[in-house]
Amino acid sequence: KSFKELNLDNWLIKNLELVGIKNPTEIQLKSLPHTLKGKNIIGCAQTGSGKTACFALPLLQKLAIDPYGVFGLILSPTRELCYQIQQQIHSFAGQNLNLRISILVGGVDYMKQVKELQEIPHIIIACPGRLVHFLENDQYNLKEFLQNLQFLIFDEADRMLLEDTMIPDIKQILEVLPAERQTLLFSATMVKDIDKKLDRKLILGDEKKE
Ligand code: AMP
Repeated sequence: KSFKELNLDNWLIKNLELVGIKNPTEIQLKSLPHTLKGKNIIGCAQTGSGKTACFALPLLQKLAIDPYGVFGLILSPTRELCYQIQQQIHSFAGQNLNLRISILVGGVDYMKQVKELQEIPHIIIACPGRLVHFLENDQYNLKEFLQNLQFLIFDEADRMLLEDTMIPDIKQILEVLPAERQTLLFSATMVKDIDKKLDRKLILGDEKKE
Protein backbone atom coordinates (compact mmCIF):
# COMPACT_ATOMS: atom_id res chain seq x y z
CA LYS A 1 0.00 0.00 0.00
CA SER A 2 1.08 3.57 -0.68
CA PHE A 3 0.79 6.64 1.57
CA LYS A 4 -2.03 7.76 -0.72
CA GLU A 5 -3.96 4.56 -0.05
CA LEU A 6 -3.44 5.09 3.67
CA ASN A 7 -5.28 8.43 3.28
CA LEU A 8 -2.31 10.65 3.99
CA ASP A 9 -2.87 14.15 2.61
CA ASN A 10 -1.19 15.07 -0.68
CA TRP A 11 0.88 17.91 0.76
CA LEU A 12 2.46 15.49 3.25
CA ILE A 13 3.08 12.89 0.55
CA LYS A 14 4.88 15.56 -1.49
CA ASN A 15 7.02 16.63 1.45
CA LEU A 16 7.94 13.01 2.15
CA GLU A 17 9.00 12.58 -1.47
CA LEU A 18 11.20 15.66 -1.16
CA VAL A 19 13.16 13.95 1.62
CA GLY A 20 13.31 10.67 -0.30
CA ILE A 21 10.51 8.82 1.48
CA LYS A 22 8.29 7.07 -1.08
CA ASN A 23 6.84 3.95 0.49
CA PRO A 24 5.60 3.34 4.02
CA THR A 25 7.62 1.08 6.33
CA GLU A 26 5.95 -1.88 8.03
CA ILE A 27 5.12 -0.04 11.25
CA GLN A 28 3.76 2.91 9.24
CA LEU A 29 1.55 0.53 7.23
CA LYS A 30 0.22 -0.99 10.40
CA SER A 31 -0.33 2.15 12.44
CA LEU A 32 -1.35 4.94 10.04
CA PRO A 33 -4.81 3.53 9.16
CA HIS A 34 -5.69 3.78 12.86
CA THR A 35 -3.82 6.91 13.89
CA LEU A 36 -5.09 8.94 10.92
CA LYS A 37 -8.60 8.09 12.09
CA GLY A 38 -7.93 9.50 15.56
CA LYS A 39 -7.35 6.20 17.35
CA ASN A 40 -5.00 5.67 20.25
CA ILE A 41 -2.26 3.15 19.71
CA ILE A 42 0.50 1.40 21.59
CA GLY A 43 3.20 0.53 19.08
CA CYS A 44 6.31 -1.58 19.37
CA ALA A 45 9.01 -0.20 17.07
CA GLN A 46 12.77 0.09 17.03
CA THR A 47 14.71 3.21 16.12
CA GLY A 48 15.24 3.14 12.37
CA SER A 49 11.83 1.59 11.68
CA GLY A 50 10.30 4.94 10.78
CA LYS A 51 8.43 5.31 14.05
CA THR A 52 8.87 9.07 14.24
CA ALA A 53 6.78 9.43 11.09
CA CYS A 54 4.15 7.17 12.69
CA PHE A 55 3.33 9.86 15.19
CA ALA A 56 4.50 12.95 13.29
CA LEU A 57 2.32 12.39 10.21
CA PRO A 58 -1.08 12.06 11.95
CA LEU A 59 -0.09 14.98 14.18
CA LEU A 60 0.77 17.21 11.22
CA GLN A 61 -2.23 16.16 9.15
CA LYS A 62 -4.60 17.14 11.99
CA LEU A 63 -2.64 20.22 13.03
CA ALA A 64 -2.74 21.66 9.53
CA ILE A 65 -6.53 21.87 9.71
CA ASP A 66 -6.80 23.82 12.94
CA PRO A 67 -3.46 24.72 14.53
CA TYR A 68 -4.89 26.28 17.68
CA GLY A 69 -3.06 26.30 21.02
CA VAL A 70 -0.37 23.84 21.95
CA PHE A 71 -1.61 21.08 19.67
CA GLY A 72 0.81 18.26 20.39
CA LEU A 73 3.10 17.23 23.22
CA ILE A 74 5.85 14.71 22.59
CA LEU A 75 7.64 13.21 25.56
CA SER A 76 11.01 11.63 24.96
CA PRO A 77 13.66 10.30 27.35
CA THR A 78 16.73 12.18 26.08
CA ARG A 79 17.55 15.61 24.68
CA GLU A 80 19.25 14.07 21.62
CA LEU A 81 16.05 12.25 20.75
CA CYS A 82 14.04 15.46 21.21
CA TYR A 83 16.23 17.23 18.64
CA GLN A 84 16.06 14.31 16.20
CA ILE A 85 12.28 14.33 16.42
CA GLN A 86 12.16 18.08 15.83
CA GLN A 87 14.34 17.72 12.74
CA GLN A 88 12.14 15.02 11.27
CA ILE A 89 8.93 16.92 11.99
CA HIS A 90 10.28 20.03 10.29
CA SER A 91 11.29 18.01 7.25
CA PHE A 92 7.82 16.41 7.00
CA ALA A 93 6.04 19.73 7.56
CA GLY A 94 8.12 21.44 4.85
CA GLN A 95 7.11 24.96 3.94
CA ASN A 96 3.38 24.39 4.23
CA LEU A 97 2.98 25.27 7.87
CA ASN A 98 4.58 28.08 9.75
CA LEU A 99 5.33 25.54 12.40
CA ARG A 100 6.59 26.54 15.84
CA ILE A 101 8.19 23.74 17.81
CA SER A 102 9.53 24.28 21.28
CA ILE A 103 12.05 21.93 22.83
CA LEU A 104 12.10 21.71 26.61
CA VAL A 105 15.24 19.91 27.69
CA GLY A 106 17.94 20.53 30.25
CA GLY A 107 21.10 22.42 29.42
CA VAL A 108 19.37 25.01 27.25
CA ASP A 109 19.02 28.68 28.10
CA TYR A 110 15.95 28.90 30.31
CA MET A 111 14.88 32.36 29.12
CA LYS A 112 15.02 31.26 25.50
CA GLN A 113 12.62 28.44 26.32
CA VAL A 114 10.35 30.81 28.23
CA LYS A 115 10.24 33.14 25.25
CA GLU A 116 9.33 30.30 22.90
CA LEU A 117 6.55 29.18 25.23
CA GLN A 118 5.10 32.67 25.33
CA GLU A 119 4.64 32.48 21.56
CA ILE A 120 2.52 29.35 22.09
CA PRO A 121 4.27 26.68 20.04
CA HIS A 122 2.19 24.24 18.00
CA ILE A 123 4.27 21.37 19.30
CA ILE A 124 6.29 20.89 22.46
CA ILE A 125 8.94 18.19 22.52
CA ALA A 126 10.15 17.63 26.04
CA CYS A 127 12.04 15.49 28.48
CA PRO A 128 9.62 14.89 31.37
CA GLY A 129 11.82 16.47 34.06
CA ARG A 130 12.26 19.77 32.26
CA LEU A 131 8.58 20.05 31.42
CA VAL A 132 7.67 19.51 35.07
CA HIS A 133 10.07 22.26 35.99
CA PHE A 134 8.07 24.66 33.81
CA LEU A 135 4.75 23.37 35.12
CA GLU A 136 5.84 23.95 38.69
CA ASN A 137 6.78 27.55 37.95
CA ASP A 138 3.46 28.28 36.45
CA GLN A 139 4.00 31.95 35.92
CA TYR A 140 4.21 31.00 32.23
CA ASN A 141 0.58 29.94 31.78
CA LEU A 142 1.81 26.66 30.40
CA LYS A 143 -0.98 24.69 32.06
CA GLU A 144 -3.53 26.92 30.41
CA PHE A 145 -1.84 26.63 27.01
CA LEU A 146 -1.97 22.85 27.33
CA GLN A 147 -5.73 22.76 27.81
CA ASN A 148 -6.34 22.51 24.07
CA LEU A 149 -3.88 19.64 23.63
CA GLN A 150 -5.03 17.21 20.92
CA PHE A 151 -2.10 14.78 20.78
CA LEU A 152 0.07 13.23 23.45
CA ILE A 153 2.95 11.14 22.22
CA PHE A 154 5.30 8.95 24.19
CA ASP A 155 8.47 8.16 22.26
CA GLU A 156 10.63 5.34 23.61
CA ALA A 157 7.98 4.91 26.27
CA ASP A 158 9.68 1.91 27.81
CA ARG A 159 12.68 4.04 28.72
CA MET A 160 10.41 6.52 30.48
CA LEU A 161 7.65 4.37 31.96
CA LEU A 162 9.75 1.49 33.20
CA GLU A 163 12.28 3.77 34.84
CA ASP A 164 11.28 4.72 38.35
CA THR A 165 12.96 8.12 38.21
CA MET A 166 10.70 9.47 35.48
CA ILE A 167 7.39 8.11 36.79
CA PRO A 168 6.59 10.95 39.23
CA ASP A 169 7.31 13.53 36.50
CA ILE A 170 5.13 11.76 33.96
CA LYS A 171 2.34 11.42 36.49
CA GLN A 172 2.50 15.13 37.22
CA ILE A 173 2.35 15.93 33.50
CA LEU A 174 -0.59 13.58 32.84
CA GLU A 175 -2.56 15.16 35.66
CA VAL A 176 -2.60 18.59 34.02
CA LEU A 177 -3.44 17.41 30.48
CA PRO A 178 -6.98 17.23 29.14
CA ALA A 179 -8.21 13.62 29.28
CA GLU A 180 -9.85 13.83 25.86
CA ARG A 181 -7.03 13.61 23.34
CA GLN A 182 -5.31 11.19 20.99
CA THR A 183 -2.52 9.30 22.73
CA LEU A 184 0.18 7.46 20.79
CA LEU A 185 2.71 5.40 22.64
CA PHE A 186 5.80 3.94 20.99
CA SER A 187 8.29 1.70 22.63
CA ALA A 188 11.27 -0.37 21.52
CA THR A 189 10.27 -3.32 23.67
CA MET A 190 6.90 -4.80 24.51
CA VAL A 191 5.17 -2.61 27.03
CA LYS A 192 2.71 -5.01 28.59
CA ASP A 193 3.88 -3.78 31.97
CA ILE A 194 3.30 -0.06 31.46
CA ASP A 195 0.35 -0.10 33.82
CA LYS A 196 2.43 -1.57 36.61
CA LYS A 197 3.79 1.89 37.31
CA LEU A 198 0.98 4.17 36.21
CA ASP A 199 -2.72 3.71 35.67
CA ARG A 200 -3.27 2.78 32.02
CA LYS A 201 -6.36 4.97 31.89
CA LEU A 202 -4.29 7.95 33.05
CA ILE A 203 -1.67 7.25 30.38
CA LEU A 204 -4.07 6.77 27.48
CA GLY A 205 -6.79 9.25 28.44
CA ASP A 206 -10.06 9.23 26.49
CA GLU A 207 -10.02 8.94 22.74
CA LYS A 208 -11.62 11.88 20.95
CA LYS A 209 -15.05 11.16 19.52
CA GLU A 210 -14.98 11.91 15.83
P1 AMP B 1 13.03 6.66 12.94
O1 AMP B 1 12.81 5.18 13.11
O2 AMP B 1 11.78 7.42 13.10
O3 AMP B 1 14.14 7.17 13.79
O4 AMP B 1 13.44 6.92 11.41
C1 AMP B 1 14.68 6.55 10.89
C2 AMP B 1 14.93 7.20 9.53
O5 AMP B 1 14.09 6.63 8.52
C3 AMP B 1 14.67 8.69 9.47
O6 AMP B 1 15.75 9.32 8.86
C4 AMP B 1 13.44 8.83 8.61
O7 AMP B 1 13.44 10.04 7.87
C5 AMP B 1 13.52 7.63 7.71
N1 AMP B 1 12.20 7.14 7.26
C6 AMP B 1 11.01 7.25 7.90
N2 AMP B 1 10.03 6.68 7.18
C7 AMP B 1 10.58 6.20 6.06
C8 AMP B 1 10.07 5.51 4.91
N3 AMP B 1 8.78 5.21 4.80
N4 AMP B 1 10.95 5.18 3.94
C9 AMP B 1 12.25 5.46 4.05
N5 AMP B 1 12.79 6.12 5.10
C10 AMP B 1 11.98 6.49 6.11
